Amino acid sequence: MKYVFVTGGVVSSLGKGLTAASLGTLLENRGLKITLQKFDPYLNVDPGTMSPYQHGEVYVLDDGAETDLDLGHYERFTHTKLSRKNNLTSGQVYQTVLDKERRGDYLGKTVQVIPHVTDEIQKRIVEVGELSKADIVITEIGGTTGDIEGLPFLEAIREFALNVGPTNVCFIHVTYVPFIKAAGELKTKPTQQSVAKLREIGIAPNILVCRCEQPLNKELRQKISLFCNVAYEAVIEEKDVDHSIYEVPLMLQRERMDDLVCNHLRIEAPPANMIHWQEIIRKLVVPQHRVRIGVVGKYIELQDAYKSVYEAIIHGGVANDCGVAIEKIESEEIEKFGAEKALRGLTGILVPGGFGERGIEGKILAAKYAREKKMPFFGLCLGMQIATIEFARNVLGLAGANSTEFDANSPHPVISLLSEQKNVSHKGASMRLGSQPCELLAGSKAAHFYGASLIHERHRHRYEFNNEYREQFEQAGLMFSGTSPDHKLVELIELKDHPFFLASQYHPEFLSKPNAPHPLFRAFIAACQVAMHQRAT
Ligand code: GLN
Repeated sequence: MKYVFVTGGVVSSLGKGLTAASLGTLLENRGLKITLQKFDPYLNVDPGTMSPYQHGEVYVLDDGAETDLDLGHYERFTHTKLSRKNNLTSGQVYQTVLDKERRGDYLGKTVQVIPHVTDEIQKRIVEVGELSKADIVITEIGGTTGDIEGLPFLEAIREFALNVGPTNVCFIHVTYVPFIKAAGELKTKPTQQSVAKLREIGIAPNILVCRCEQPLNKELRQKISLFCNVAYEAVIEEKDVDHSIYEVPLMLQRERMDDLVCNHLRIEAPPANMIHWQEIIRKLVVPQHRVRIGVVGKYIELQDAYKSVYEAIIHGGVANDCGVAIEKIESEEIEKFGAEKALRGLTGILVPGGFGERGIEGKILAAKYAREKKMPFFGLCLGMQIATIEFARNVLGLAGANSTEFDANSPHPVISLLSEQKNVSHKGASMRLGSQPCELLAGSKAAHFYGASLIHERHRHRYEFNNEYREQFEQAGLMFSGTSPDHKLVELIELKDHPFFLASQYHPEFLSKPNAPHPLFRAFIAACQVAMHQRAT
C-alpha cells in the first residue's frame, strides 16, 4: 500500500481538500483504487457541535458520521466510500488515549504525545488503508504548518514515513505564492518559510503545489525549487480556476501531478482518461440555458455553510445542460423587505437545512411565495419543515402553527421532536443521522424522478412531521410522497397542483456528484427551465 500526505502552508483556505480530491480523481482515472481521509487538529470530537461560523457545513456520511466538509469534496470527486474512520480529530485521538489510560492499558507508563498520541494517529492511517483495500491512501492534514495543535499529526506522518519507507510515501505541500500589487510580482518567501518549517519537523515535501492568482514563470519555479529543495518539475502551479472547482483535476493533470505521484511511489498505471470530466466542464462553461435559483438561508454570507447544496444545484444544471446563477438570499431580508422584493425575477427557490429560530419567518414567506406564484420550490430538511408550517398556517388555516423547535407552546405543533429524541441530553452525535430507507408513494412525482420505489438518503435532524396532522394535510392536497418503510416518519412531501413543490426531511445534497447528479436536483433544475421558458413565451 502507498500513502500520500497533503499538508498546507502560509494561510488556510487554500483548497487543500480540493487538491487532495482532485489528485484522487486523477489516480482513480488511471485505474487505481484510492481512499481519502482528513485529519483535523481541533479538539472537538467531530464538527457536529460547531457553528457554521466556525466550521462551514457539516458533511454527513452514510454511517451517520458528522464530518468535515472536505469529505464532501472527496465523495463528489471520486467513487471512494467513506466512513467515520475517514475523519480523525485531535478530540477523537485524545479521547481514545485517555480511555486507554483509565483502563490501565499503558501498564504504568507515562502517557505522552510521542509515542502514544502519534501511535494512535498512525494506527488510523493503517486502519483506513486496510478497510478500503485501496492502492493509495491520501491523507489530508487540516490546519497550517506552524500551528501548535497540528504538530502531533505532522510528527505522526514523519514517523509513519520512516516506518514504511520513502518510496511508499509521497508528501505534498500546498502553499501560497501571493501577488504583491505594489511590487507587481509574485513572492516566494512565504513558501520558502513554510517549507522550512516542515523540514524542521523532519518532513521534506516531494511535491509543492503553489496556489497563485498569476502564472508562475520559469525563474520563479527554479527559485522555489532551489530554496525549498524540491525538484523543478515537482513545483506545480495551481492557479485560481476561471469557472468551476471541477477544473482543478484537469489543471493538475496538465501540471503532471499524477505522473509525479506515480513515479515517486513506483506505481505503473496508464494515463488518466478525463474525457467525461472535460464534458462536465464544457457544460459548466458554455451551457445551453440559464436559470436563477434563490437559496434562502441564514448563513448566506458564509461561503462554506451550504457547500453541498450549492454543488448539488450546479450538478442539477450539468444534468440539464443548464447554467445556474445562484442568488444567495438572507432570510431576514425577506422578513424586513417582503418576499416580492427579495424573490422577484428568480426562476426557482431552494430553502436548505438549518437550526434555531433566527430567519425562520423569512423562509416561511419564501415558501408561501413559491407556492402561490407556482414557482419551483425545493426544501431540504428545515426547508421541508418550514414548507409544512407555511401550508398549515395559510392553507389549513391553523393559526400559530409551528415547529416545537421554535415555539414550544404552539397551538398547532405540525413539526415536533422525534420520539427517539425525547430523552437525549448530550448534543454530540445524537440527532437522527445517516442513511435511512425511504419508501416512495407510487404515482408521486418523486417516485417518477427517482425511477425507484425504495431509496436511501442521509439525514441529520431532531424534529419530524407530526402525524396527528397527516389527514388534514392530505385532504388539502399535500402528498406525503416518501415515508420510512413503516410509514411512521414523513420523509418527503410534494404539492399536487404545482409545477414543482417538493421538500425532503433528508439531505439529498450529500449524494450528488458532478458525474452523477442527484435525481431531485436534476428534476428541480428541469422544472426551473420549464418555468423560465413559460415566462418567456
Ligand atoms: N432543525 C431541524 C431539526 O433538527 C432541521 C435540521 C436540518 O435542517 N438539518 O429537525
